[in-house]
Parts: sequence; structure tokens; C-alpha cells
Amino acid sequence: MNTVDKFNSHLVALSRNLWWSWNPHIIKVFRDMDPERFRTSNHNPVLMLGEFSPAQIERLSKDAGLRARVDAAHRELVDYLDEPRTWASVHAAPLRVRPVAYFSAEFGIHESLPIYSGGLGVLAGDHLKTASDLGLPLVAVGLFYRESYFRQRIDRDGNQHAEWVRSPAETLPAKPALTPAGRPIVVEVPISSSETLLAQVWEIRVGRNQLLLLDTDVDGNTDENRQLSARLYFGDQRIRIRQELLLGVGGIRALHAAGIHWGGLHLNEGHSAFATLEYTRLRMELTGADFASAAQDVAQSTVFTTHTPVDAGHDRFSPELADGHLGPLRQSLGLSQQDFMGLGRIRPHDGHESLCMTVLAFKMSRYANGVSALHGRVTRKSWQVLWPHHREDEVPVGHITNGVHVRTWLASAMQRLYTRHIGPDWRTRLSDPESWVRIEDVHDGELWETHRVLKADLVHFVRRKVGEQRQNNGYSDEDVKAARALLDPDALIIGFARRFATYKRADLILRDFERVKRLINDPKRPVQFVFSGKAHPADRPGQEVLRHIHEAMRAPELRDRVVFIENYDINVGRHLVQGVDVWLNNPRRPQEASGTSGQKVLLNGGLNCSVLDGWWAEAYDGLNGFAIGDGTSHVNVEEQDRRDAASLYNVIENEIVPLYYDRDEHDVPRGWVARMKRTIRTLGWRFNTDRMVIDYTRECYLPAAGAQTSAMPK
Ligand SMILES: *Cc1c(COP(=O)(O)O)cnc(C)c1O
Repeated sequence: MNTVDKFNSHLVALSRNLWWSWNPHIIKVFRDMDPERFRTSNHNPVLMLGEFSPAQIERLSKDAGLRARVDAAHRELVDYLDEPRTWASVHAAPLRVRPVAYFSAEFGIHESLPIYSGGLGVLAGDHLKTASDLGLPLVAVGLFYRESYFRQRIDRDGNQHAEWVRSPAETLPAKPALTPAGRPIVVEVPISSSETLLAQVWEIRVGRNQLLLLDTDVDGNTDENRQLSARLYFGDQRIRIRQELLLGVGGIRALHAAGIHWGGLHLNEGHSAFATLEYTRLRMELTGADFASAAQDVAQSTVFTTHTPVDAGHDRFSPELADGHLGPLRQSLGLSQQDFMGLGRIRPHDGHESLCMTVLAFKMSRYANGVSALHGRVTRKSWQVLWPHHREDEVPVGHITNGVHVRTWLASAMQRLYTRHIGPDWRTRLSDPESWVRIEDVHDGELWETHRVLKADLVHFVRRKVGEQRQNNGYSDEDVKAARALLDPDALIIGFARRFATYKRADLILRDFERVKRLINDPKRPVQFVFSGKAHPADRPGQEVLRHIHEAMRAPELRDRVVFIENYDINVGRHLVQGVDVWLNNPRRPQEASGTSGQKVLLNGGLNCSVLDGWWAEAYDGLNGFAIGDGTSHVNVEEQDRRDAASLYNVIENEIVPLYYDRDEHDVPRGWVARMKRTIRTLGWRFNTDRMVIDYTRECYLPAAGAQTSAMPK
């Protein structure tokens, strides 16, 4: 191969395995090829490389420095893929034979692959990356949303506009998944006696593992069905049940067609629970077992993670809708109407009760868990009805607290600081508490200075983004220009970004407008806020919260000190969590099952200020951040909101502001830095996905693989 061809083929190989997305130095190689184009492609190397002409590639290949970096990056990828000694090779050998099949309705791996909406998807993405790093064999299954989740724009009156943009497959790192005989996989999912969905299957490489995505945009489907997999969380219950059939039934068929012999099934949320039924059918077909014993075998190897205590978060399908779609599945299992529907009902014989995906998932899995200690307790209480003979604390639902994939979320400057002070191997010892003790030896000034640099990056990002937004939304030239001076990098910055579900109370801080104006405009110790987040297009109250914030921002006293970044995504999230001083989280307890955005902040040196809900209820020790409220809930929502707002103001005024602005003679806030260190030392090792995936492996995957009483014939 000549030099240009080799250069090009290495770039193509690098761009087609998402491993690059959690390696900042590889991202930098792509960026340095053409910074502007990399940015406008939404950091998508496949799209960017596709836009280069052969002459441009040739010119780039003449740059010896770049060529050497591409060579080295490619070698690193090959070494990573070939590494025989991994955590899993030692601790999870049985899974080498039978990988885990991981089902999720969304995957948030990188902003350039927009098939996620929020925390559930980002958690799934972080899970995949970690499984790859640990060498844990896992095949993920999801849907190929060609129009993704919507792109958000907010007009000058504060109205949210949802724009759906289609990504052509050739701009994504996807290729058709093949059968062992080398034919592209197309699966059929019957949804009634007269209608069958067809789906092609795409494969995306995520480090050492693969992600299979189903796509109904194929010839042979009706126009309506072609559109079925286009949009995430969009459309009525009829679309929803069809998408979930596609994910569950189609997903199992795709795995089978690909010749994959999986061991455990992991349902990341109940959306994919039909997978357990299709798997049962397949076992009946291949082993000749009857429904009861096949279903029992499936349950023995199935792990179900539930993610929300919010009732509307559990899909329920009316008996009519279920009848209209599940007939073929029911018949293939040889079940009566009542026995089939009973699998998804609390009271199996109640003909009026809907089919609930969460109930189905609980009944069809032997391992079930919530995503924080508190959420585990709340889940046992809410679903005790399914285990009428158990006491609440005996309900067989445990918890594995969520974490985040550190290499994805941690700023490069902090990674370098840890390499210097924690040790060159800190990345492979993330979940070891001992390694983080050394953070106490880092000079306060060095840690603070690193944080200040990251914060300056954030301010720069905010100014550019808000300038672009104002331009797109028809603001005056002065307003566009004024964006260049937004935010003071030396003043406290509090960040708040998440989905605008109403229980997350994005506008809680605005309850007492006079008080918040005083806070923000304190001449010596001002406070600044950066908001970001999307409200679901059907969520009117969520959009009202957004409008409320938008309106408040227009008050002259708040200008320049409160900003909103449109279109919250992984990119916006990464900039925010790396640069803020404080991350604010004020959901109505106990509705935030875990929350993960605050975990992204902590190794970056930010401090959490949060209601004692989700992960924070088990993380806060009095000195490693700040708490809102006293860890109780009130039955009266209005009363709870009033109390939490009062507590929030008190914490900011009496704890956060004084500590932040209390400086030594070198302008270093020693008390604040002490909290940063305590955060890193006490929380870094626990709230990462290394610890989380290791917990899943030990507590669920290994026992589930071992419990397969009658392994399926290969
Ligand atoms: C981490 C993340 C979330 C989850 O945030 P929560 O605090 O758990 O609500 C949602 N969206 C994006 C883009 C994220 O990166």
C-alpha cells in the first residue's frame, strides 16, 4: 500500500470504531485535520472524512507529524482490540463463551450518533464503553433512529421548537450486520395476522464489542412502518408498542440471525421486555421445552434494571392495543389470552388491567435492581404487590448504583493531573479507594489553577454558543455581539442541565425572584447560572418551566449572569461538567432514581449541590459537597417545593458563596479546594462505571450465565 492509501485506511478504521470517542488524544487527531470542519460535522469523523476530496487527503498525508500521529493511533487501536489480558479475562472467563446481550431503547455514546434522549441512554453508552475497556464480552441491541431525538431551538418568546433532522447512514459509523454466511440480516416481526414488520440490522463497533441497531426503513414495509424506527420517544401508544416489539422480538431475532450465542440478557429498563418472550419462544423451538420450563430458563438468565419511580415512566398498553399487536407472539408461545396478558399484569385475571412492561420484566427476570440504594428501597415498596408473600424488605429487588465512564467525561487537563499525582495507572485503578487518597497531596494552587483553566474554556464555549443562538433566532447585532462578554470567569458559576421533566424543578431557584436577583447581583460576591435542557415535545408543563427561565433571563438585572444553552446533548454536557464550580440538582425527592450528571462533575473538580435523592443520598458525607433539604419528603408537593427552595437559598447564601469567595493571599479559596479534594477522594472511586459494571458482572452476569440449567444447543 502506498503512503496515502495507508494513511487513509488507518483513518477510516479509526473513524469506524467508536473507541475514538473516549480517547481525547485520538479526538484531537481528527480535530487537528480540520478544526472548523470537525466542529460543523458535530465532531463526526465519518462525516468529515467523507467530505475530504482525494486531493485533500493526499495533502494531509504529506504532513509527517500528522501521519505519525495517525499511525500511532491506529496501532493503539489494534493493540487495544488484541489485548489478551483484561479484567474480564481473569474475573469473568465464562462470559467469553457466551456474551451478555444488553437491550436498551437508547444509547448515548457520542454526540455524533444521536440515538439517545437523556440519562438512560448515556448510562447505556457508558456501560458499553466500560464493558469494552474491561474486556467484558457484550452485544448491545437498540433501534436506529435515523431522525434521532429532536434538535432544540428556543425563540425569543421562550417557545421551544423541535426540529427533526435525518442522518444518512453513510455519515454514521454503521455497516450492515451480516449472518455467519455473510448475508445482510433482515428480521421479520409479525404484529398481527396480516401485518409483518421488516427490519434491517446495522452494526456499530464500540471498542471490543458491537452494537446492533434495528431499522424499519426498508423496502417491503408500508410507509408508516418505514417511519417506525425514525424517532425516539415520539408518537402515540400504538407507535410505542410497535417500537417495543421491534426492539424486543426483532432484537432477539437479530442476535440469533447473527449467530451470536449469548448467555445473560440484560434489560436496561422495561421497554425491551418482549425480548424475554421471544427468547422463550426460541428456546421452545430449539430445545422442544414447554412454555413453563423455557420461560423459567429465560428468567434465570435475565437481569432487569428499572430506572424510575415516576409512574408515567412505566409503559402500559391497554388490553385492546395489546390484543391488536401481540397475537402472533402469544400464539407462538401457545398461551391463552388470559395467561399471556397475565404476564404483564399485577392481577393476572383482571381483564381490564393493562399490560405493563415493568411488570412483565419483573416476572421474566431472576435479577432485578434499582439504580441507587434509595431507589432500591422505593422500588421494593412500589412493587411489593407483585410479591404478596414477601415483607417489603424481602422483595427480591436489589440495587446497583449508577456511575459514569470517566474517560468520556473527564477533562484532559484533569487526566494529566491524575497521571502526575495519582499515578500513571490511575485509569485501571479507578474503583480502588486507595489510589484516590493521594489527591490530598496535590498542591492547592495546582488543583485550583487547573480548574480555572477548565472554567475559562467553559466561559468561552458559552459565549460562542449563545452568540450563535442569538444569531439564529433573529436577535439584534448588539445582542449577538454582547454574547462575547457573557459571564465573568472569576465569579462563581452554578450549572444546571438535564431533561426538563417537571419533577426536576429546573426553575426552583426562581421561586423568590427578589432573593435570586440579590444573589446574582451581589457586587462583591456575584452568582452566575448556566442552564441547558430539552422538554419532551409533548410535555407542555416542561416547556412552561423552560419559558419561565427564559422570561426571567430577560430581566435587566439578570442579563449576562444567567444563560441558557440550547440543544442539551453530550457535547454541551461535557463542556458544562468540566467547567462549572457547582452542579445543581433539585428534583422532588424521591423521584430521581439515581441521576448521573452530578457524577460527571466530581472528578473534574466541581462540587455538587443537591437534594438528598438518588445517588447523592448515599454519597454526601457533610463535607464533600452541599445538601439541599434534610433527606425527607413531604406528601404535599407545594410544601415540599417551598421547603426545598428555602433550603436551596440558604445553602447558596450561607455555605457556597462564603466558602467560594474566601481567598488566601494568592487568591486561592483554600476551604473550597479542600472540598474539591474530599469530593475526589471519597466519591471518585465509587461513582464510575468500572465499579458499576464489575458489580453487574459479579452479582448478575456471572450467576445468570452459570444458572443456565439447559444451555441452548449451539
Ligand atoms: C448525563 C446526561 C444526562 C443525565 O443527567 P441526569 O442528571 O441524570 O438527569 C442527560 N442528558 C445528557 C446529555 C447527559 O450527558
